[in-house]
Amino acid sequence: MKKKPSGFSGGVHPPERKITSEEKIIALPAPPKVVLPLIQHLGCAAKLKVAVGDVVFRGQKIAEPGGNVSAAVHASISGKVSAVAPWAHPSLLKPVESVVIESDGKDEAAPFKAIFSDYARHTRDDLRAAVADAGIVGMGGACFPSHVKMSPPKGKDIDYLILNGCECEPYLTADDALMRERAKEIIEGAKIISHIIDAYQTVIAVEENKPRAIETLKKLAFNEPNLSVAVLPVKYPQGAEKQLIAAVTGRVVPSGGLPFQVGCVVHNVATAYAVFEALKKGKPLYERVVSVSGDAVKKPGNYLARVGTLFSDIAAAADGAEESLVKVVAGGPMMGFAQGALEVPVVKGTSGVLFLSSSRSGDFKPCIRCAKCVMVCPMNLLPNMLSVLGEKELYDDTDRYYAADCIECGSCSFVCPSNRPIVAHIKLSKSYLCSKKS
Ligand code: SF4
Ligand code: SF4
Repeated sequence: MKKKPSGFSGGVHPPERKITSEEKIIALPAPPKVVLPLIQHLGCAAKLKVAVGDVVFRGQKIAEPGGNVSAAVHASISGKVSAVAPWAHPSLLKPVESVVIESDGKDEAAPFKAIFSDYARHTRDDLRAAVADAGIVGMGGACFPSHVKMSPPKGKDIDYLILNGCECEPYLTADDALMRERAKEIIEGAKIISHIIDAYQTVIAVEENKPRAIETLKKLAFNEPNLSVAVLPVKYPQGAEKQLIAAVTGRVVPSGGLPFQVGCVVHNVATAYAVFEALKKGKPLYERVVSVSGDAVKKPGNYLARVGTLFSDIAAAADGAEESLVKVVAGGPMMGFAQGALEVPVVKGTSGVLFLSSSRSGDFKPCIRCAKCVMVCPMNLLPNMLSVLGEKELYDDTDRYYAADCIECGSCSFVCPSNRPIVAHIKLSKSYLCSKKS
């Protein structure tokens, strides 16, 4: 009998606010200009293959992976490269070398790549190379190059491929829409990934607040051997990798460890869809579904947007931002990044853009030792200690409190009555510890 999902400790229940959960995917027209950062993934920046003045086509590779852990970048419209220069990035919060393409209005596609109609007849290395060539990264926001995640160490058995369809962040519904409308393609993508990593079984994990997606996936999974759908309770951060593994399999990834150590590999449902598009349709990753939401946008929805589309164009396509707009967030409200301007591009990991009419006050108070943050931490850390040490810049001491294990889920900050920027404190500590070790 199938094991009932066991859940994970901690977590919170923020208001869901998924106001776009019934909206269909609408493709936005190609924008007049795109900005494509050479870093849209974890690891090294991609290496530029074009120069200012070059004519490019939609789907053409404009940058190669810059190392083993890196990803290619492709033009998302046809036109001319008008600049290669630093540009504001939605999650790195500093300017990143980017390729600017002005549209020629034709939206002409580059010749499509090889299609792997019968993928099982190709070697796993060839399929991995095709995934790398298509520039696919984890599309849940982590942006880890997918072909690297599809390369578990030799001799390591993978019992579970888990497809993450939890989408536990408030507001976000892009994955939900994709699972409702492109479930067949997601399952095909899952089968390709499963073949590459030689997984024993595949589980698509979905939170129970997505009934139509669950029904669609279950119907399709019924006749698929070794593929099932796990319905999980609504709890944030259910979609975090380690928490998801615990919920689906009961296995615990050790501190500092990786999922393959417990026989698991996790990919987002949108990543599986991108793998299907790349290998079955020869289409590299140059567009994605983005939840455009919040109380300060006139027409919220699930929009298929070209990578590189500026948030200002997204707002215009969604019928404009309201006058009440005070805050723009890339991603969800728990783990997303507040933006200083609208001239910021959608990148491969942009699952949502929120236009909000209010912003949490920046003032914070001393810790009152209520321990609320400790009770909700899904990694069983002591966020209060990490916050106080980070605030005092005692970064070395945060190592003893396992700062590196923090998944930056924001649950601690969410419940803190003193409004302490706990995650910001921890990020500073992690960045210090990381630079010290490298
Ligand atoms: S300390 Fe890190 S893992 Fe724990 S609740 Fe805070 S952000 Fe999440
Ligand atoms: S929730 Fe805030 S005030 Fe309470 S212990 Fe944690 S850091 Fe301190």
